[in-house]
Amino acid sequence: MFRINDNFTKLPASYLFSEVARRVNAYSESHPGADIIRMGIGDVTRPLCQAAVEALHKAVDDEAAGETFHGYGPEQGYSFLAEKIARYDYRERGIEIDTDEIFVSDGAKSDTGNIGDILSTANRVAVTDPVYPVYVDTNVMGGRAGDLGADGRWTEIEYLPCTAENGFVPALPVNNPDVIYLCYPNNPTGTTLTRRQLKAWVDYCREHGALLLFDAAYEAFIREEDVAHSIYEIEGAREVAIEFRSFSKTAGFTGIRLGYTVVPKELMGLDEKGNKIALNGLWRRRQTTKFNGASYLTQRAAEALYTEEGQRQVKETIDYYLENARMLREGLAEAGYEAVGGINSPYIWLKTPGTMTSWEFFDYLLNRYHIVGTPGSGFGPSGEGYFRLTAFNTHENTRRCIERLGATDRK
Ligand code: PLP
Repeated sequence: MFRINDNFTKLPASYLFSEVARRVNAYSESHPGADIIRMGIGDVTRPLCQAAVEALHKAVDDEAAGETFHGYGPEQGYSFLAEKIARYDYRERGIEIDTDEIFVSDGAKSDTGNIGDILSTANRVAVTDPVYPVYVDTNVMGGRAGDLGADGRWTEIEYLPCTAENGFVPALPVNNPDVIYLCYPNNPTGTTLTRRQLKAWVDYCREHGALLLFDAAYEAFIREEDVAHSIYEIEGAREVAIEFRSFSKTAGFTGIRLGYTVVPKELMGLDEKGNKIALNGLWRRRQTTKFNGASYLTQRAAEALYTEEGQRQVKETIDYYLENARMLREGLAEAGYEAVGGINSPYIWLKTPGTMTSWEFFDYLLNRYHIVGTPGSGFGPSGEGYFRLTAFNTHENTRRCIERLGATDRK
């Protein structure tokens, strides 16, 4: 009989969001009138902006006529989009990225998950903790994680704690990892690193021959000057870093799907004979073999985001969420909570009161105040004792949430 990939059987059931849903459903059933406010939403809620909608309609018309019909497109994305990305996301920020270093895809989850295809299973991996679970789980699938220990950590992965004790700034690794995942602005903590802090990571990778996988899915939320929009703002990053971007949170494309990955041509890894091989060519080979390109419609919609009108509309939507984030941040502080994030990010990460665990606080908020958030322990062992709220609800619900939290008699 054929064999399965045993690594998949090592993965524990994906517990976090199903357990959240189970507890909320159970509560709603036993309290039918409860007015529950969902502040755990990790998805956007505002509709697509007008510029994208108009471009989508036009692209549908293109597909409806023989002369303008588009079938399979280039696997790495249409040049009309790659040129806009190179110009507006990079050149105008003083960064030179060639269009053939840009790989358009159906999103950052696929790319951060698939990148392991071009990396040896012998590589040792480091992640920040708490972390976007895709980085860990895909390395389990790829056989790089070892076994799950009783402490909730995989034996072969180096965890870099980000907690109040270190100001949510991860220390450089000590176990000499080959591949390091960083995500800034961070999910789930909502924190950022300054350019100077990021430089330490780029320097580390250059010195140790490590690959930096930099997830910038929340780049559009950056408002502060000293926060880098791209890892390539940091000198030397082209030699060590791959950057992942997404239109999901930028422009509400979570449903229509689009992202891109930048693989600079200078970025080299070793083959088993010790030869240096360019990752750009490997990723191109991977994508042209396993991926047939993102939809023409979505790429036209993304192109429209780079017009003046599109940029204005994107900013308006992000500003809407950031206003929610501000309300949450300030409201939580007023109510006596310790919280970070929410300045360059839609996420607020708060310390649970007293000695409450993340799940105890989840139950407490649900039962007492009918507020749903996400327990921090679901993002990794160092997330225990923390809780994530998001800015993706309406102003009104955010305000109501704060009013309720303000009334919380803290333990
Ligand atoms: N990276 C991070 C850190 C995320 O939080 C998310 C989505 O929540 C993604 C990537 C997924 O992005 P996409 O919708 O482009 O697949």
